Amino acid sequence: MKNLWNDTEAAKHQGILAERIYSSRLLGANPDLVLHGGGNTSMKGVSKNIFGENEATLFVKGSGSDLATIEAKDFVAVRFDAMLKLSRLEKLSDIDMARELKLASLDPNAPAPSVEAILHALIPYRFVDHTHADAIVAITNTANGEARIREIYGDEVIVLPYVMPGFDLAKLCAEVFPAQATPRTIGMVLMNHGIFSFGDTAKQAYERMIALVGRAEDYLNRNAPLLPAAEIAPTANWPELPELRKKISAAAGFPLLLRSNNSSAALAFARHPDIAAISQRGPATPDHIIRTKRLPMLGRDVEAYERAYKQYFEKNSTSAKMPLTMLDPAPRVILDPEFGLVSVGRSARDTQIVEDIYAHTQDIILRGEMLGGYRALGEADLFSMEYWDLEQAKLKKAGAPKAFAGEVALVTGAASGIGKACVQAFLNRGAAVVGVDINPAVEALYSDRADYLGITADLSAPEAIKGLLEQTIRHYGGLDMLVLNAGIFPGGKKINALGDDEWRKVMAINLDANLALMREAHPLLKAAPRYGRVAVIGSKNVPAPGPGAAAYSASKAALTQLARVAALEWGADKIRINLVHPNAVFDTGIWTPEVLAQRAAHYGMTVDEYKRNNVLHEEVGSKDVAELTAEMCGALFAKITGAQIPIDGGNDRVI
Ligand code: NAD
Repeated sequence: MKNLWNDTEAAKHQGILAERIYSSRLLGANPDLVLHGGGNTSMKGVSKNIFGENEATLFVKGSGSDLATIEAKDFVAVRFDAMLKLSRLEKLSDIDMARELKLASLDPNAPAPSVEAILHALIPYRFVDHTHADAIVAITNTANGEARIREIYGDEVIVLPYVMPGFDLAKLCAEVFPAQATPRTIGMVLMNHGIFSFGDTAKQAYERMIALVGRAEDYLNRNAPLLPAAEIAPTANWPELPELRKKISAAAGFPLLLRSNNSSAALAFARHPDIAAISQRGPATPDHIIRTKRLPMLGRDVEAYERAYKQYFEKNSTSAKMPLTMLDPAPRVILDPEFGLVSVGRSARDTQIVEDIYAHTQDIILRGEMLGGYRALGEADLFSMEYWDLEQAKLKKAGAPKAFAGEVALVTGAASGIGKACVQAFLNRGAAVVGVDINPAVEALYSDRADYLGITADLSAPEAIKGLLEQTIRHYGGLDMLVLNAGIFPGGKKINALGDDEWRKVMAINLDANLALMREAHPLLKAAPRYGRVAVIGSKNVPAPGPGAAAYSASKAALTQLARVAALEWGADKIRINLVHPNAVFDTGIWTPEVLAQRAAHYGMTVDEYKRNNVLHEEVGSKDVAELTAEMCGALFAKITGAQIPIDGGNDRVI
């Protein structure tokens, strides 16, 4: 375990919490210590109140922040004395505790303090660090885990049995810590949960964490060395994944995304000879259960998983009021010999988090097996975490999801103009978006977002199409919405000068490529949880062609007819297909400033007059077209197919 502390870097952080922030981020930067929002840190200090008095204060990580990116505002200042007073209560329900923690906060706008705030207050050191280090979790999830921990650390750490985080854990610590702490004590291990380190400075607490976890890692490397998986060539039949997604979404009651990790390590784990046993013992730490559910699904029998989940719920639910709907009975992790580790989530970010968590879990399980057998907490403890009042309250607070949450849209011609605006419109509505374009700029559009995948491909080359649909499936599990937008508009040419090559090129891109994509995408759209939708970008030229645009107008008219036939043929699959007919959308690649100036001059108008040359005298932008296109895929158009809508500010030849 590498010690990342650097005095020069640390000194760059200013303010009372400076070193606390710096070392928290160092912890957060190591996924073997904490993953996605896990872990927490604190510092004891003083703050001045409005009366000018010094008040003993605990600065503790607020819920919802991530150690890797934590800032001063993410630490909540709470009254230290209130924490100690709360710890002396005999009993405190979790809901009451959450309220009291909030009341003890010195800033009403600060986030809710960590549920482990009281525990942090009780540890008599200025800096306290807490992680869910893989090495600690791996060792404590074994039959004689506690003995191993004592063997590794002797009296340098205090060991607590598993207790749910919150008041009960704080109470236990209040009892055990003073009784067992010695001058040599530098940490505390919570069985099946994680580890605390503490010190008088941020550096000391951090370095103790690194040293303690490093010792656990050394122990594992000696007793349970993990070798890299042998190379396995992936051989998945990708169109089967959208079918599985449909069943999983039906079990959940809403659309979900699936993400396949078919690396050799993931495939080897899914094909492990004992997978049926080792994967069904529970998560590495109860902290993961909200993301991953208690158990992964093996293979593809969604109904069996759903039944087992409902049984588990009924068996463990102590309150008749507890609604199963708060957590649906669909899996969040699937282990499949072909698709490897498949993670399931409402957003692309969720699927990435689940994948990360389970990739770590796999290694923890394999190491636990080498140490004589991986074990997890019992069902009852796990159920209490899964249906914890505080977690349920968080889910309720999250509010209604966006219109296209859990759905996938593919937009062609996404690098520029209307296509680019469509990507934004679908992302805004919560969809994961695949943008395809011959222009490689499409890849960098949103390269930092999990919910965007840019693919460079020439759609007029039919062999590209299978590949890009496969990538879509691997990243997001299927396809719900298809926006056929890519198109070219070659310069005006009268029929007597129109060559075969130009005619064929326009047809190949504006027409043939769309047929090929529709044909290949049909099985995916058919498997879409809320039924597939196709939006086609036609043109005003369909109802009102112009001279000099024979190839373009003919291609768009044929595309319109193709879409109308698809509406008839695919209606039985409940796939809806509608068209928009834009005209004169100037913030696009089709129109350059020179062409615009030329056309305006040709009609004896200024550029501005030319832009608004329609019945309403309104300029139509690519965003207007994109918003209409997205709405066509939404609830408003649920009962409409085969429709054609002009978006042109009103055109006297169309009206
Ligand atoms: P644009 O040039 O800004 O965008 C078209 C995109 O399609 C470009 O990024 C281009 O690289 C891509 N593309 C072209 N050939 C491709 C291929 N073989 N494979 C993959 N990608 C390819 O123009 P725009 O105006 O945004 O055009 C979008 C659609 O809107 C087109 O179908 C066009 O006919 C239609 N349309 C535009 C207007 C307008 O006034 N701008 C009017 C009516 C219809």
